[in-house]
Amino acid sequence: MKEFIYSALPSRVVFGSGKLASIAEEVEAIGASRALVLCTPLQKAQAEIVGRLLGSRLAGIHDGAEMHVPIESARRARALAAELGADCMVAIGGGSTIGLGKAIALEAPIPIIAIPTTYAGSEMTPIYGITENGLKKTGKDVRVLPRSVVYDPDLTMTLPLAMSLVSGMNAIAHAAEGLYAQDGNPVMSLMAVEGIRALAQGMPAIVANPNDIGARADCLYGAWLCGTVLGNVGMALHHKLCHTLGGSFNLPHAETHTVVLPHALAYNSPATPGAMAKIAEAIGADNAPIGLHKLAKRLGMPTALRDLGLKESDLDRACEIALSNPYWNPRPIEAAPLRALVQRAWEGSEPQP
Ligand code: NAD
Repeated sequence: MKEFIYSALPSRVVFGSGKLASIAEEVEAIGASRALVLCTPLQKAQAEIVGRLLGSRLAGIHDGAEMHVPIESARRARALAAELGADCMVAIGGGSTIGLGKAIALEAPIPIIAIPTTYAGSEMTPIYGITENGLKKTGKDVRVLPRSVVYDPDLTMTLPLAMSLVSGMNAIAHAAEGLYAQDGNPVMSLMAVEGIRALAQGMPAIVANPNDIGARADCLYGAWLCGTVLGNVGMALHHKLCHTLGGSFNLPHAETHTVVLPHALAYNSPATPGAMAKIAEAIGADNAPIGLHKLAKRLGMPTALRDLGLKESDLDRACEIALSNPYWNPRPIEAAPLRALVQRAWEGSEPQP
């Protein structure tokens, strides 16, 4: 018997096609009346739809969300929220836009309503990240957890296919590591398995037809479950490696997760046979790491770090950084097997324990 502590985070989720239309009710439900809408320049049109739906409750639209939340961009957004007298934020977009909302909420008591349009999962977590002087600092604070989350699969129809797939693998990574988390619990494990299953079903279906709304809904449903796991239990080697590679070598977030995941799971597989069996079953494979590697290849996702722009000469430093900051992992992290792992991930070869 495994002992556990289960402590639920407060969360309200509205899920369904067309649910964006209920955004004004969500603002009212949290007792707010002046919403600052956040987005990236690319998603301004979606933000303007939100603005029209909010009507008199719209304080303004800020399209200044950027990848990795640079501190200067957080400061600009905080100043704007204060100047407009906003009493809530509506963040429509992926992890970068929701991350900007979190950077504001960290300093001002303004709740976030998130409308996620990728599968990254930030909307379900109390984790924030802000980049200052080239270093991304992350932390945990329940004040940044969105008060309400509206998942509308219609909004994901514009997410390019390639991005949809790597974002889906990013979500699977949260659930996979959640299955062997040191502080894992049976509720999160149920969510993790169901999240992986929904994404493994939805991803091939959106390759077959990117406009399949049912498949898009499966992926978004999976992303909600996987994001919940990320917000509730600790992550290990895989997330640490991706954080190192993204932060120190400026590699793209979801693509890096996609390439590294099968290799990090293979590394941990000797210590986590139960988790591996659950992942394998959820994706319909005999072996979890090899099954995920094959899924990525079959659907045309990147499978080699060299194709993401990482130089082979950077691999030693990547390992040094990953080893320099000790953290819990189900299998002890040792230099030689870690170096072999990143070599295989760089080459795109088959994962091995
Ligand atoms: P992103 O938010 O950077 O989005 C990538 C691009 O896709 C942006 O230009 C965005 O506007 C566009 N886009 C998003 N949805 C779209 C849609 N439906 N249609 C068209 N374009 C769309 O990407 P991401 O992968 O969602 O987020 C990555 C960032 O989030 C990273 O910085 C990562 O560290 C962070 N993150 C944080 C957490 C957390 O818990 N704090 C969790 C996951 C990711």
